[in-house]
Amino acid sequence: MTLELHQFPCLSDNYGYLLHDSASGETTCIDTPDAETYLREAEAKGWRITQIWNTHWHPDHAGGNAAIKAATGCTIYGPQEVSAKFPLDVVLAGGDSATLGGNTAQVIDVGGHTKGHIAYHLPEAGLAFVGDSLFALGCGRMFEGTPEQFWASLERLRALPAETTICCAHEYTQANAAFALHADPGNDALMDYAREIEAKRAAGEPTVPFPLGRELETNPFLRADDPDMQAHWGGDSPDETFAAIRAAKDSF
Ligand SMILES: [Zn+2]
Repeated sequence: MTLELHQFPCLSDNYGYLLHDSASGETTCIDTPDAETYLREAEAKGWRITQIWNTHWHPDHAGGNAAIKAATGCTIYGPQEVSAKFPLDVVLAGGDSATLGGNTAQVIDVGGHTKGHIAYHLPEAGLAFVGDSLFALGCGRMFEGTPEQFWASLERLRALPAETTICCAHEYTQANAAFALHADPGNDALMDYAREIEAKRAAGEPTVPFPLGRELETNPFLRADDPDMQAHWGGDSPDETFAAIRAAKDSF
């Protein structure tokens, strides 16, 4: 394994990620919340930024594209929607792939938070960069997509190997846990997880990244087809149940 992942806080509650391949010397930025922080972190590591992989168009994900490209001459990959506001060199969509040295990332369509949101899954490294589609015990707000689209996206993420390490873009876990306990009362695995999260945050530790497997048992948004959740939240189909849970979280 020649990949090294560097995670660091950015802006108020974003996480920045730099992924470095020591064999080729290539480094990619996963999103660009803040150019200065990314350039400083890369320099401290001694890594040369050669790429940017955007997940969606929001400014706290693509706002640093121009400045990082100007400083490094890197190539910017991402969904078409990014190009409306920020520089983009290569358009990616679900089913495409991106490469960093000898490592391949499969691009997954995870639209719903924004219409064109994509995720990057590196099967050999067991890593997935999911932006604002999936959070620990939560998912992104549905700004642009439909419940059908968002639920289909979550089903695609849910189908990844359970041991996959999920790298999401925000530290929202504590607030998500409070809602999850409300949405799915009596879930013992969730109660254990919520206690661990509280202890980690009290100690100033990040709760991200996290394994997908645990989310399958505890994340209410990944459990919209669970009979108990459907009975509790209503809906004749998983996407209707998902819509009910998402609406409840928005006003929680
Ligand atoms: Zn976003």
